[in-house]
Amino acid sequence: MGTARSQPLEMSNEFDDWTEEDFDNEIKRLQACIRELQARKVEREEEEDDDEDFMNDPDIREMVENGEHTCHMFDAHCQACEDDEDED
Ligand SMILES: [Zn+2]
Repeated sequence: MGTARSQPLEMSNEFDDWTEEDFDNEIKRLQACIRELQARKVEREEEEDDDEDFMNDPDIREMVENGEHTCHMFDAHCQACEDDEDED
C-alpha cells in the first residue's frame, strides 16, 4: 500500500454524500471566512502602521514632550510641526 503516502491531503469520506448544493454552501461559508480574515489582517496592518511604535521609545517621547522636532528622524510631520502650524 505504498500509494497512500503520495496523497498528503486525503479527503475525508464525509464528503461522499454531499450534493453539489452542499459543496456550494460550504464554499460560500469558507469564502466568507476568508473575507473576514482578510479584513482582520488589513486592520492589523493598519494598527502596526500607527505612530505608537516610536512613541514607546522614552527618548523620542521626551523630545516630543519638550516640544522638540522629531520629524527629521521620521520623515513626517511631528507634534512640534503641528504646534508651529497652530501658532500661525
Ligand atoms: Zn517637526
